[in-house]
Amino acid sequence: MTSTERRVALVTGGSRGIGRAIATRLAAAGHQVAVNFSSSSAAADDVVADIQDAGGEAIAVQADVSSSSAVEALFDEVSSKLGPVAILVNNAGITRDNLLLRMSVEDFEAVIDTNLRSTFLCTKAALRGMLRAKWGRVISIASVAGISGNPGQANYAASKAGMIAFSKSVAKEVGSRGITANVVAPGFIETDMTDGLAEDVKESAADSISLGRFGRPDEVAATVAFLASEDSSYITGQVLAVDGGITL
Ligand code: NDP
Repeated sequence: MTSTERRVALVTGGSRGIGRAIATRLAAAGHQVAVNFSSSSAAADDVVADIQDAGGEAIAVQADVSSSSAVEALFDEVSSKLGPVAILVNNAGITRDNLLLRMSVEDFEAVIDTNLRSTFLCTKAALRGMLRAKWGRVISIASVAGISGNPGQANYAASKAGMIAFSKSVAKEVGSRGITANVVAPGFIETDMTDGLAEDVKESAADSISLGRFGRPDEVAATVAFLASEDSSYITGQVLAVDGGITL
């Protein structure tokens, strides 16, 4: 980080996987980090303890980010304990995979609400403080599925494509106010989300990745840290694939 400015960062779904790596990395860059989680309270406490052990500052905050009242309470709590959010990472996400003909309305809506509705709610809640500060970074974690689509993931791909179009619109709306909005689109990353994939699916996926392997959460976190820093000051509305070349 070229700037030593200490800012308040909120990472939704920061208790596990990619979000955990992002929270840890932003704390190491000197930011005060709010680690949001939905149900993994012990995991979130563990992330906070790790950050504090390394000399950083963090708090864990429970909230289901698909709920508007919970997001309101989340921002109130972060604001009163740390201050207004300057760096928002919309990371919380779920999958409910199924072929379209077998996909229930509930599974479609759960994925849209957790991935896309949450991005709308959190970004809207963060913007007021960012506008006042005339500085802000909104970084949303989409997926290569939101760029290329994926069989069995019509709900997930639609939510991630929605996050991309949403971010580009926000970038156009608030760019003149010192706020950037960018998207990171990971490919296959080693987390709980991909742990459950069958071995043959993992092997055939690795075959289509130019770098020949799944990515690590810290490789996504490094990209997010760059987009959160002053070094990315002239980048907005972009989608950066961190995918080992799978979309090539
Ligand atoms: P994990 O399943 O490992 O972790 C998901 C995180 O999101 C957890 O911290 C979970 O917290 C949180 N979360 C889920 N629902 C909610 C909710 N309603 N409110 C608040 N937090 C919630 O996922 P990954 O780390 O793998 O994925 C992180 C992001 O990256 C997601 O958006 C995912 O779509 C995206 N991504 C992941 C890829 C991969 O290969 N792993 C590839 C491309 C994109 P809790 O346990 O408390 O529910």
